[in-house]
Amino acid sequence: MNTSLSFNNLRQQTVLTVYAHADDEVLPAAGTLSLMSKAGWSIRCLILTDGNYSSSSIKGTRHQEAEAAGKIIGATYEFYAFEECNFSTQAVIKVTEEAIKSWKPDLIITHAPQPEKYGHRDHEVCAIAVSNVATRKNIPLWYSAPPVFLRGFEPNFFVDITTVIDEKISAIQCYESEEEKSFMQLDAILVLSRFWARELGQKDGYFEAFEISRQWVGASFFTALNHVKTES
Ligand SMILES: [Zn+2]
Repeated sequence: MNTSLSFNNLRQQTVLTVYAHADDEVLPAAGTLSLMSKAGWSIRCLILTDGNYSSSSIKGTRHQEAEAAGKIIGATYEFYAFEECNFSTQAVIKVTEEAIKSWKPDLIITHAPQPEKYGHRDHEVCAIAVSNVATRKNIPLWYSAPPVFLRGFEPNFFVDITTVIDEKISAIQCYESEEEKSFMQLDAILVLSRFWARELGQKDGYFEAFEISRQWVGASFFTALNHVKTES
C-alpha cells in the first residue's frame, strides 16, 4: 500500500476521518474535506456514536444530518453506535483497523489529543486509539482543532478554505439538532477561521488549522509544490 501523499493525481487519494460524534468532522475540517473532494479525493468519514446522549432535545437525526452534510462536502459516511462516554480504546482500534483495510487511506484525520480535563472524553479515547493505529501502520495523521478549549492543540498546518467557506457553513447548518450548542454558533466558527488567517499574517480569508502528527511524502511531492507555485 502506498501511504505517501503524492499530490500528483496518479491515482485517487483517500482520506479517512475518524470522529466520535457526527458534527465533529465539519466543525474543524469541512472546508479542507470539501477542497480534497473537489480535487478528486475520496472522503470517508467514520463516526463512532449515534449522538442520542446529546443534550439536544432532537434525537435520532444525527446520521441523516451527517449524510446531508456529506452531500455538500463530497464525503461518504460509515456509522457505529458505540455508547457515548462508554466505549473503549480497543473498540476504536478495531473499527479503525477495519476501515483501513477497506479503504486503504493515504491520510487519516482525527481529534487532537488534549491534556486531561480539557478534551471531551470520547474525543480523547478516539484520538489515542486512532494515533496508535496510524503509527503502527505508518499512515500520515493530522489532528484537527478541538471544538472548544484549544489547550494542547499545536497547529502547524493551515488550509486556505476561503473559496469553500459557504460549503462549510452549509455543512454545519445540516446539523439542526445541534444548532443551539455554543460551539455550533456560526459567528464564532467564522471568527476562529479568521483567527487562523491572522496567525498566518493574512488580512483576509478563512483558514482551517491542523496539527501534523505524522507525515511522509514521495519524491513527486516537490514537483507538485512547484506546480502549485506556478498556478498561484
Ligand atoms: Zn464530539
